[in-house]
Amino acid sequence: MKAAVLYEAHKPLVIEDVTIDGPRDGEVLARVVATGACHSDYHVMDGSWHGSNFPMPVVLGHEAAGIVEKVGPGVTSVKPGDHVIMSFAPSCGRCKRCSGGQPHLCQSMSGGRGTMYDGSRRIRRGNDLLYHFGGGMSSFAELSLLHESQAVKVRKDIQLDRAALIGCAIMTGVGAVLNTARVEPGATMAVFGTGGVGLSVVQGGVLANASRIIAVDLKANKLAYAREMGATDTINASDADPVDAIKEITGGQGVDYAFDAIGFASVSRQCYDVTRRGGTTVVVGMAPTGQEIPIPATIPGEEKIVKGCFYGSTRPQIDFPRLVDFYLAGKLKIDQMLTRRYKFDEINESFDALHRGDNARGVIMLS
Ligand SMILES: [Zn+2]
Ligand SMILES: [Zn+2]
Repeated sequence: MKAAVLYEAHKPLVIEDVTIDGPRDGEVLARVVATGACHSDYHVMDGSWHGSNFPMPVVLGHEAAGIVEKVGPGVTSVKPGDHVIMSFAPSCGRCKRCSGGQPHLCQSMSGGRGTMYDGSRRIRRGNDLLYHFGGGMSSFAELSLLHESQAVKVRKDIQLDRAALIGCAIMTGVGAVLNTARVEPGATMAVFGTGGVGLSVVQGGVLANASRIIAVDLKANKLAYAREMGATDTINASDADPVDAIKEITGGQGVDYAFDAIGFASVSRQCYDVTRRGGTTVVVGMAPTGQEIPIPATIPGEEKIVKGCFYGSTRPQIDFPRLVDFYLAGKLKIDQMLTRRYKFDEINESFDALHRGDNARGVIMLS
């Protein structure tokens, strides 16, 4: 099969012929139909995520949907031909976190460090083993190997290019609002950064019936996308100080919830500064390796809350089908987010566009 391989940071992806072995017990082999271009892939490509957690050469890709090709022994929840959205967070279903309703924080199957959930590597170029990404899923390839928990069956009446976006951006952004923050009707919120995740935070705010959804970005075209998704107010941070502007919009109080959808320490701090006393900052975007967020020691008197949000605190088996239902009921705007489709051999262009901020979301079509 073909896969896009990253050999080193700052170099383009190279489409190569590779082989993949499996599926073994409890595993699913899925044909990737569509996979999104996400900042988490780009962070590895541009070197802002580096070190022993991100070994190379690697097959990136973690936002995808496809069709089950083959299942290993013991797999019962999907069969060949089923349509699946792929999750980049494998879960065992038995540990304390899984049992407690937080499968995204599974204690025994965190994956990472460039391998499958069980520590193995299965993609080869010639005799050389390549590294995996995204909880092992590596969707910049025609086939992706998954633990059964990562292959979430969905209805067939959603097109798979739309479904792919649920696998990362939409789940992360909508989940940050509904699952992590649990925004209540009438609340006020701000979101910094209006890429795929930030636009999904905006949509989460609409689903939660937030009264004010204030979007902040440096680019006018992305703020226009945010208004289309339901932002009530937009602030171009290249023209105005977003902290002052948000305070002004909220009568000096600050917002109930602020979301850092970029993932940068200074932006997380701005989120902290624009929340009201007792308000909540949710850090959704993943910062470059090594950054720390400075928080004032006056936090007791402020009673502010700072929370991390991994993957929208997802419970994939519940949330993915629910988001598909929202889309098919007209309550989630995915068509408007899917700005451009790329062929597999245009994958590097999709990341150039991501870097420039051209698209709400670009999707690479593999079949
Ligand atoms: Zn992502
Ligand atoms: Zn578990």
